[in-house]
Amino acid sequence: MPTIDLKPSAESCWELWQAVRAKRPLVHCITNFVSMDIMANVLLAAGCSPAMAHSLDEVEAFVGISSALLVNMGTLSPEWVAAKKLAARRAVELGKPWVLDPVGCGATPVRTASCLQLLDCRPTVVRGNASEILALAGAAGSGVRGVDSTAASRDALEAAKQLAVAHKCIVAVSGEVDYVTDGTAVVGVRNGHELLTLITAAGCSLTALIAAFVTAAPQQPLLATAHALAVFGLAAEEGLRLAPRPGPGSLRVALLDMLHLMDQATVKAGARIEVMA
Ligand code: ATP
Ligand code: MG
Ligand code: MG
Repeated sequence: MPTIDLKPSAESCWELWQAVRAKRPLVHCITNFVSMDIMANVLLAAGCSPAMAHSLDEVEAFVGISSALLVNMGTLSPEWVAAKKLAARRAVELGKPWVLDPVGCGATPVRTASCLQLLDCRPTVVRGNASEILALAGAAGSGVRGVDSTAASRDALEAAKQLAVAHKCIVAVSGEVDYVTDGTAVVGVRNGHELLTLITAAGCSLTALIAAFVTAAPQQPLLATAHALAVFGLAAEEGLRLAPRPGPGSLRVALLDMLHLMDQATVKAGARIEVMA
């Protein structure tokens, strides 16, 4: 497959998505019970292949046959955490991208400690909402404070930058505006809809899509992440526009439909990606 040279623009958004579809990457997802269904369906609708395997004795082999790994911290037990660490380390050994979703970081000491342990396993990308990124950065010793669950994504940008520098990864904070940073550059994405916050596991599924997009542009994980955020957010916007009723149930269905049906003109006209720093 030819290497894609991404630009922070709507045009390359479509180009990357087509490359993802052509590759049809197998994305190995170790995720929480609530998100399994919608996450697998989001990946399928977007043109990828999901695998939802979490058994301690199988995850390393699964990483071996996958293009990328998604680790979501939602469902926690000692055995699950051990499986996540094994899988993440294997991905790094094999040079495969892996993406961390630090669900609920800051909510309990065990959860925060587990998120930190996974952060130490060198994720390619970390994607969380503002509270999670603030909590993760605070726990990682950035000195940034504040775990207000109502925090806006902008409030977590500094924390995201510090995490990105300290852990040599890309960090994305989702919200009304999504921010993606490597610690220096910042790209903003203005797609999405606030009703997404009323569908369980929208954010979880989005993080799996990021893993898929990074496989098609492994040298440009920052822009690949921004492109995934734009595609996901735009699919929600367009889906809601065409849905029979403007509610979360219809949005859930319409999001999947749009990830399958969205065309080039819609992506080019609707993806809102901009360089902010
Ligand atoms: P989950 O509860 O599924 O774990 P999350 O809290 O991790 O979700 P969110 O920050 O809600 O993740 O982001 C999920 C999606 O919703 C992203 O595409 C994001 O851009 C979008 N989103 C969240 N809040 C808003 C908003 N106020 N306006 C527009 N889009 C939003
Ligand atoms: Mg949320
Ligand atoms: Mg989440």
